[in-house]
Amino acid sequence: MSIRQNLQKVSQSLPDGVRLVAVSKFHPVEELQEAYDAGQRVFGESHEQELSRKVELLPKDIEWHFIGHLQTNKVRFIAPYITMIDAVDSLRLLREINKQALRCGRVIDVLLELHIAEEATKYGLSLDECRELLSEGEWRQMAGVRIRGLMMMASHVDDEDQIRREMTTAAQFFDEVKQTFFANDEAFSERSWGMSDDYPIAVKCRSTMVRVGTMIFGPREY
Ligand SMILES: *Cc1c(COP(=O)(O)O)cnc(C)c1O
Repeated sequence: MSIRQNLQKVSQSLPDGVRLVAVSKFHPVEELQEAYDAGQRVFGESHEQELSRKVELLPKDIEWHFIGHLQTNKVRFIAPYITMIDAVDSLRLLREINKQALRCGRVIDVLLELHIAEEATKYGLSLDECRELLSEGEWRQMAGVRIRGLMMMASHVDDEDQIRREMTTAAQFFDEVKQTFFANDEAFSERSWGMSDDYPIAVKCRSTMVRVGTMIFGPREY
C-alpha cells in the first residue's frame, strides 16, 4: 500500500472531531511530501535537528508538532515556527517555552504529558505532579504558552484491557483538570492518545488527536 492509501485508511477510520498527526520521524522528506500531496497538513517529529531540516525543505503551510521529549536547550530552535509542543513534562520546560515564545512574539500551544502507563518510561507527569503544576499557578502568568490539553502514551502491551484502562484514566483526569482549572477556557480541549497499535482504542476513550506513524509510513529505520 502507498502512503496515500495508508493515510486514507487511517483518516477514514477516525470519527469527526479526531485529528490525525502524521508521525514522520526518521522518514525522508520525499515520504512527507507524498503525504502532503495526499492532503495531510499536520506532522509530528521528535528530534529538533531532523525537524528543522525538514521544515526548510517542505511547504510552509504544514503544522508541525513536536511530539517527543524536548530538552530545554532545544526550545529556542523550534519556537519560531512550531505549532504545538505535545509533551510538556515539567514546569522548567513550560517556562522555557514561554520565554522563547515571547522572544518570537508568539503564543505556543502545548499539551501536558501524563505518565500513566505501568511501564517504567522516563517521561511524563504523574497525576499528582500535574495537579501540583496546575494549582501552583505560575502557568497563568505565561503569556507565551496556551495549555490546550493533555497527552499520554499507553503501555506498549497486547492486553487491550490494560490500554483501555490507562486511556480511561487519562480521559477522567482530563475532566477533573478541565473542571478545576479550565472550566471557562474553551481552548483546553485536546486529549492526545493513540498511536499505530492502539488508536482505535484511543478513539473509543475520547481521544481528539491521534499520533500515527508506522501505519502511514511503514517501519522506521533508525
Ligand atoms: C513515535 C511516536 C508515535 C508514533 O508511533 P507509531 O507506533 O509509529 O504510530 C506517537 N507518539 C509519540 C510520542 C511518538 O514518539
